[in-house]
Formats: sequence, C-alpha cells, structure tokens
Amino acid sequence: MALPLPLSLSPSKVSSFTDCGLAFRFSAIDRLPEPPSVAATRGTLVHAALERLFCLEPHERTHERSLVCLEDAAAELRAHPEFSGLELDAEAEAAFLEEARSLLERYFRLEDPTTITPIGIELKLEVEVGGVRLRGIIDRLELDADGELIVTDYKTGRAPGERQEQQRLAGVAFYSLLCERLFGRRPAKVQLLYLADPLAIISTPTDRSTRGVERKLAAIWMAVERACEREDFRPNPSRLCDWCGFKAYCPSFGGDIALADAYRIDRELERQDAAEPALA
Ligand code: SF4
Repeated sequence: MALPLPLSLSPSKVSSFTDCGLAFRFSAIDRLPEPPSVAATRGTLVHAALERLFCLEPHERTHERSLVCLEDAAAELRAHPEFSGLELDAEAEAAFLEEARSLLERYFRLEDPTTITPIGIELKLEVEVGGVRLRGIIDRLELDADGELIVTDYKTGRAPGERQEQQRLAGVAFYSLLCERLFGRRPAKVQLLYLADPLAIISTPTDRSTRGVERKLAAIWMAVERACEREDFRPNPSRLCDWCGFKAYCPSFGGDIALADAYRIDRELERQDAAEPALA
C-alpha cells in the first residue's frame, strides 16, 4: 500500500527531504509529534517578540521596548506545551530568557527597526505551482524606499557553512517564488538575518534563480511521489541525527518504522470516526 502524499511543500520540508528522506516521512507524512527543543522554542519566542515590536509605531521600536515585547511574548508562551514541555527549572529558564534577550540585542546591530516599513508580519502564503501546493510563512514583508518588496527571514541559529548556505538560499528563492506568484511582483531583495552571529545574508532573486527553484521543487515533488508509491524513504545518518526527535522510529538507531505506520493509521481512523455523522 502506497503512503499518502504530503499536503504541501514548504522551505523546511524541502530542507528536511534533502537532509534525510526518512525524517521527512516521519514529519510530513506520518506527522509524528516532535518533542520540543530549547533552541526551537527560543526561536519561537524571539520571533514572537520581533512580531510585537513591528506592530508598534516606528519611533517606538527601541531596544528597551523590544525587551518589554520579549517579556509579554514569554508570558504568553509559558502556557504553551512548546515551553512547558521543556520542563525547565528556574535556573534553566533564566538562562533561556537571557539568551533570548541577547539575540534581541544582537538583532539591533543588524538593522534599525525604526526605518523599516513592514506591510506584513508572520505572513502565511500558499500557492499552487505546477500542481504542487507551496506554503510558507514570511517573517516580515516590507517596502524599501523605492517601493520595492523586501522579504526578511530571522534565524536564531548560527549562520551556515558554505554547503548549508546554498540550501538556505534555496529557501530564500522559495519565498521569492511565493511572492511573485501571489503578488505578481518579484522581491528586489530577500535577506536572512542570523541574529546569533549577527550576520545578514542577502540575495537578489533573478529570472534564473526563479526558474531554478521551480525546477528543483518539481524534481523534489516527483521524488516524494515516487518514494510514497514505493514506501521507500531512506535514512541518511549525519550530524543532524543529534537533533532528530524521531530516533525511536529510525532503524539507523534501532527504532521501528512500524510504530510510525501505527501512529499514522490510528490518527487516520480517528479522523474518519470524527467525520462520520452521528447515528440517530
Ligand atoms: S535519526 Fe538521523 S537518519 Fe534517522 S530519521 Fe533522524 S535524521 Fe534521519
């Protein structure tokens, strides 16, 4: 029996498929829950603080106000399983918040938020290209002084090495394609702001890069279809396994793929039960 196709592709799914086909399957097809991680939750918090900052009037976007935004975002996040699941003690929570404050402080070394003209924050975009549904969340869409579109993506991990940089820039081209198809305009610039370093990686989308990402997405979708048809998603052990939350299911770590099948089938049966009309 073939595996069901994922509903869409996003930059993170493309990156996951490229890194390890089996991890992609567990996440995008079996939809296994992943345990929260300190790094990912800290990223969520800093993104939420910057979202709040850019909802303020330009002259209010100061470093001091960003810390208030962070405290407000942290108060909201504390009730969420992504944070409570970390089970941080008081000392670990203080260190977690201090690192988030430090990332915000370094953000201010990259740009002056009082000069930015955002037209969309945490923008959810979705479009069909060549029969493939593409989805992405743009952290910030803005207009420059000439009225051109700029896409900004915040990164709270370290800037990538040369090989990973190409992969990250493929994600950038993905966002550019989404904008072009939805707004009929190609962004003049797409920038990745690596807060930890701090470092900005800036790319100018072109006809060539747009055609390249379309070809790449079509090839990845074909590979996903083939792998689903054959139920053949292979593990690709690497240093990334250190951060993978699916080891219990991964044969490379003595795990059992059948557990992932069972989880997916159970969820599917639950959905079918919920969809059936109640008998009178
Ligand atoms: S543990 Fe490594 S090889 Fe296994 S699914 Fe995760 S990333 Fe892939």
